[in-house]
Order: sequence, then structure tokens, then C-alpha cells
Amino acid sequence: MNLKIPVEVSARHVHISQKDLDALFGKNFQLTEDKKLSQPGDFASREKVNVKIGEKELKNVRIVGPVREKTQIEISRTDALFLGAKPPVLLSGDLDDAASASLTGPVGSVEVKGLIIAKRHIHCSPEEAKTAGMSNGDVVCVKIAGERGITFCNVPVRVADDYKLSMHIDTDEGNAAGIDKTAEGEIVLK
Ligand SMILES: [Zn+2]
Repeated sequence: MNLKIPVEVSARHVHISQKDLDALFGKNFQLTEDKKLSQPGDFASREKVNVKIGEKELKNVRIVGPVREKTQIEISRTDALFLGAKPPVLLSGDLDDAASASLTGPVGSVEVKGLIIAKRHIHCSPEEAKTAGMSNGDVVCVKIAGERGITFCNVPVRVADDYKLSMHIDTDEGNAAGIDKTAEGEIVLK
């Protein structure tokens, strides 16, 4: 059985620690929610920062809340080429080999070793995983139909109580598939 899955394109964004948020926006700064995201609790904030490497800069990159333990900058490969950087493709949260960049906000700057190209992935709840016959850590393919139809493989499945079924890809992957923001995919189980 193949299972339908919502596919969402994540634009470049930053997850931020409270310590770095204080340095960029002022002491005890609180993010303001602009829009809820699909994963419960996650939101796009109103706050934006600039991401800089050397002379190259990506301006107004959105912060995604809530604050996290570690600051993480997620960009596309196209962004990385523009910045002249070679960040590794890693799953969110896996920052040991991440590259460095500086962030600038209204009151200051910080240097962060947290620059990655986010690896595409599936979020799902334990119940959804059971229905689909998937387990945490499984690697699947997801087929997207349409004029630029494409099948993405090497997609790890992440199962957690506070997750909801969806696949996250970046803007390069979305463009390759001809998707603007969202689409429907089909999980292909081997
Ligand atoms: Zn995600």
C-alpha cells in the first residue's frame, strides 16, 4: 500500500537559541508568532536576521520558533553557492559537522557553527507510522506527480509524539519538482 503524504517546501530559515536571540535582538527577547507551521508548536516568527559569510549576505532570513537549544541556519544549495560556502547536507539538529556563518540582528551579531543544507525528511506521529508500516529511522522514497514529476529517495522517517505526517523539502527540491509551497506525494515502500 502506498500512502499519501503532504509535501511542504521550507524556505531558508534560522532556528535560534535564547542566548543568540538576546545577542541579536536584546536581553530576554521573545519571538513574535507570525504564522503557525504544520508541526505542532512550530511557528514562523516576525523576526528576521541576515546571514553572512565574508562579503556575501542573505538578507531577512526568517526565524522559526520556538527557541531551541542550539542555533541552526538552514539554507538551500543555491544559497550555499551564492554565499561561497559548502555546508553539509544534514538532518536538523545534527550539527557536529555544520559550517559557520554570522547572523546579524538589530542590536548585534553572532558567529554560529550551525549552517547546514537540511536533509529532506518525513515527520510522523507513532500512529501514522503504524498505519503506514514505517518505523523511526526508516528510509523511504516519495513520489510526486505532475509535469515535473519526480521521486525523492533517501528520505529518513522521524517519528515523535508531537509530529504530524508531512514531508519537508527545501526550495531547490521544490523547484525541481515544480512545487511552490505544498503538494501531495506518495510514500513508496520497498
Ligand atoms: Zn521538518
